[in-house]
Amino acid sequence: MRWKGRRISTNVEDRRGGGAAKAGGISILGLIIAFVAWKFFGVDPQMAYQATKSVTQQQQVSDQAPQQLTPEQEEASEFVGTVLADTEDTWSPIFKQLGGTYTPPKLVMFSGAIRSGCGTAQAAMGPFYCPADQKVYIDTAFFKDMRQQMGISGEQNQTELSRQDQAGDFAQAYVIAHEVGHHVQNLLGISSQVQQAQAQGTRTQGNQLSVRLELQADCFAGIWANHNQQRTQFLEQGDIEEAMDAAQKIGDDYLQKQATGQVVPDSFTHGTSQQRMHWFQVGLKTGDLNQCNTFESNL
Ligand SMILES: [Zn+2]
Repeated sequence: MRWKGRRISTNVEDRRGGGAAKAGGISILGLIIAFVAWKFFGVDPQMAYQATKSVTQQQQVSDQAPQQLTPEQEEASEFVGTVLADTEDTWSPIFKQLGGTYTPPKLVMFSGAIRSGCGTAQAAMGPFYCPADQKVYIDTAFFKDMRQQMGISGEQNQTELSRQDQAGDFAQAYVIAHEVGHHVQNLLGISSQVQQAQAQGTRTQGNQLSVRLELQADCFAGIWANHNQQRTQFLEQGDIEEAMDAAQKIGDDYLQKQATGQVVPDSFTHGTSQQRMHWFQVGLKTGDLNQCNTFESNL
């Protein structure tokens, strides 16, 4: 996959190594100020401490600004920023054609754990989209897991990424495009319709709807690949196979087999490997939003 030299999105929030998860700890400075306030001004130390604590917390949040990044981290944010820009340049014209405006999501890069509008996120969860704050959350360590735990590599492909211990670049881009696909579903009102239907249906019906939503996000990722190819000719030989390999290995049936040795279809939330590959290809071949109607299909 070719990705260097293109526009890099400004919608990336780099919070790797940030202090968000640490906020709330007792600061020595806060205690000293509280003590001084109590000693000299007769302020209740408990109250004084609370006041200084909220001030230092605010400082901690704003102190998260750029840390020294390693060349690898630098490259990771350039890569993620380029893929995000590619999704923006794909979906903006599509929304325009529909008579609307595409509001791009923010993408938060984090390490370890982070607070999101959808609760505390942990790297182990894998990348996800939070509709409440319209942000995609990615711990780039997941790209390593993709390779080391799921065996998704880019070996058949020449990857431009200098870090060779992670999944191939197109497999990574596919994961980002899938999460942006959830944002598109949110903007189009599809996610809320599904939520409403889920609130009324049984658990099994709810899971089936979740599968259809996931497969549609895969189809939307395919649309991104289609449009981006027309615009930038970014695909290289082996890229599609790389994404297919990733789709197969991230399929629920594969993950569940790995975990339990058996497959329980009703608890599927992402669809089978076969289904995921099918819908990614529908998007890739047609580039057409209308073809991604996974809700009216048995495939
Ligand atoms: Zn998804």
